[in-house]
Amino acid sequence: MNAPEPEATTPAITTEPAKDDRYECRACGYVYEPEKGDNTNEIPAGTPFRELPPNWRCPVCGVPRNQFANIGPPGQASGFKENYKYGFGVNTLTSTQKTLLIFGGLLVAFAIMMSFYGLS
Ligand SMILES: [Zn+2]
Repeated sequence: MNAPEPEATTPAITTEPAKDDRYECRACGYVYEPEKGDNTNEIPAGTPFRELPPNWRCPVCGVPRNQFANIGPPGQASGFKENYKYGFGVNTLTSTQKTLLIFGGLLVAFAIMMSFYGLS
């Protein structure tokens, strides 16, 4: 008596990369774009990265596929702006910390100097 498995109620989270995800060669910066394919290796346009032949290599520098990083679908340049903002925030924080460090360092140096004076 095998009851049919109930359909999953929660939508499956897609761990597989999207078909139009681009992949960047971490060795030379070449970007494989599925919509363009790869003329050098006779890959027709529209071939997703994951469907490239296993022996496919970077047409520019020749590293294997596992040296490529998924950089997402085209048209997501907005990430740069966000990164810039975050970077700015971190820089501000860092300069504040630097100031604190300098003051703290001066105090410590002063204390060490005074202790040397005290010894002599
Ligand atoms: Zn490369």
